[in-house]
Parts: sequence; structure tokens; C-alpha cells
Amino acid sequence: MPDGIPDGITRDDLEQAIADFDAGVEHPFAESTGYDLVFGDRRYPPKAIVGLAARRLAGRTLTPYDFKGGEASRCFRILKVNGFDVVPKPGLDQPRIPFVVSKQYTRNDIYQILTVPIEQQRGDWDTGYHRHDKDWFIFASVGSAGRTGHDYDNYWDGEAFVWHGKTRSRIEHPTVQSLLNPPGRVFVFTRERDRDPFTFEGCGNPASSEPTTPVTIRWQFPDRPVSRLPEELPPGTTYREGTVRTILINAYERNPQARRVCIAHYGTACVVCDFDFGTVYGETGEGFIHVHHLKEISSIGEEYVVDPIADLRPVCPNCHAMLHTTIPAMPIEALKNLMDCHRHALVAVSSSNSPQ
Ligand SMILES: [Zn+2]
Ligand SMILES: [Zn+2]
Repeated sequence: MPDGIPDGITRDDLEQAIADFDAGVEHPFAESTGYDLVFGDRRYPPKAIVGLAARRLAGRTLTPYDFKGGEASRCFRILKVNGFDVVPKPGLDQPRIPFVVSKQYTRNDIYQILTVPIEQQRGDWDTGYHRHDKDWFIFASVGSAGRTGHDYDNYWDGEAFVWHGKTRSRIEHPTVQSLLNPPGRVFVFTRERDRDPFTFEGCGNPASSEPTTPVTIRWQFPDRPVSRLPEELPPGTTYREGTVRTILINAYERNPQARRVCIAHYGTACVVCDFDFGTVYGETGEGFIHVHHLKEISSIGEEYVVDPIADLRPVCPNCHAMLHTTIPAMPIEALKNLMDCHRHALVAVSSSNSPQ
């Protein structure tokens, strides 16, 4: 993004912007998400104030698209050199998460990242969960990707991770209570086989618990990118003609473990149109892809076990939406054929229209 902030913004410009902001002047900025500008005893969205302060020099209020905010931005620098405090929003001043979701880590990698002194390594870390400073670390085994859970298996139920504590753990135990009301964050790591490295699943929120022995906790991961996927279709739901049509994805398409196996096999490019988010959008798009479940949900029985390679395919959201324009979803090959036909038709039209 080009930085469209004019040079020479003064403290007066900024104070005027704050006064106008307080007076309710119109501007195109949303509430700030990560940081606030503190002035007197009030907090302001930093970008909005700089966007307004630029009026004298730019001749107009800037828009959110004219410049960046954030820690290392010129916007924040301008505020700071003019003597303003820019601080993280309350509750957001937690340290950065030092792990990347879906990346693999050994326990040794984790010790190094957290700089755990050698005499504090192992011990509790080698059991199912360990508290480090304010944060909890959970190390969980999960059944194979296709399993839906039973007994005391840990398993993915869509995007939620259903997890069991140590063998004799009970809900009233102080440790379990601390996990349910965590003083810091809960880092959740999983693996399928004993000697594998762990995969970081994200910071978990305890969504619900059951007073079983061992205790059962259902973890949700609000920050996982997959959370931004469209609505889930609960098994057995029927949709009447004429209801709003969205892409309805099911629990198998959301299961992170099944997604990983599918993507490891097929890659992250769309199997219909070859679109690859990493290639087109760089780092931001890296690894982003929907996963389409080939089997019709209504034809699936209770005992069904998803096979991530036989039953799932990576598809881009456009192709995913097109696959689901029919009920049941059209086969991948059918959509590919449609695309090919129309592409050829387009080429034919454009070449017949072009001047000789
Ligand atoms: Zn596609
Ligand atoms: Zn689908």
C-alpha cells in the first residue's frame, strides 16, 4: 500500500483532528482493532486521527486505503514524534504468539522458542499439559484423521477439538479449573503418532466441559484462519428451495487434521481451476484453500469415517461455490468440463471480435 500521508503534520493538526473527532466530524475510518491513541483520559483510533489531521496539507480527509497503521507504520511514528502515546487496546497487550498454526514443533523446538532453562525442561512438559508462566501448554494425541471420537480418544469435531485430561483428572481439580479459566493463553499441540513432532493448533478457548473422568474439554480456536470459512451444514439439515444460498460446508471440510492430510496429498492449488492463493497473494494467501467433501452428507451413516485423500479435494472458494450450486454438489469433473467449454467459447468470441 502506498503511504499517502503528507509530510509536515504538526501537533496542532493532530489536536485539531481529535477535537473534530470528538465533535463527531464525518470520516471513513472504522474503530481501531489493535491500538489506541491516548489523549487526556480518552482513547482514539490512531488511523482516523492521522487521516483527519492530514486535511490541512492534503486538502481532504485521507481514507483507510491511503496508508497503513500498526506498530512499525509511519502513521504511528507521526503520532509518537508529536508526543502522543499509542498503546495496545486493553486486553490485547499479550505477547505475540511465538508459534505458527499448523506448523510442526518438537518439544525441543518449544523449549528453545520459549527459552526454557535446561533444568526446567522435561518433567511436566512430557505429560499431557504443563503450565509455563501464565500460559498452559497442552500436548495431545489424536486418533487418525478420519476417526470420529469415541471413549476417551481426543478428536476433532469439525473445528472444535474434544480433549480429555489425564487419566484420573476431574473437573473440580485445581489444574482443570485453571484450564477452564486460564490465567493466560492455552497453546494446543497435537500429534497422531507417538514419535511425531507436534502440530500447533492455535490458542484454545474452553467452549464447554463435561464432568467425566478423565475430564472432557471442548476447545475452540477463534483465531484459526479456517474459522473464516462459510457456514457449516449440520448433518441432516434440509434446505428449502428459495432460501439464501451460501456455501455450506460440513464438519469434514472443517476438520483441521483431515484438511492437513488432504492438502499434504493434493497441494494448496484448486483442483478445478489451479488457482493458488500463495502464488497470487503471497504470504497472506499462503496455505489458504477450501476443502470440499465429495460425499453427499445425507448419504453418510453414523459409522462413516472420512478418508481425507479419497473423500476431500482442495478447491478455491469460487469453484467451491459453483460445485454447490447443485444439490447434491456436482462432481469435480463436471465443473472442470463446464469451465473448459466456456473458456474455449470465450477465446473464440474474443478472437472473432478482434480487429483484423
Ligand atoms: Zn478454483
Ligand atoms: Zn463443499
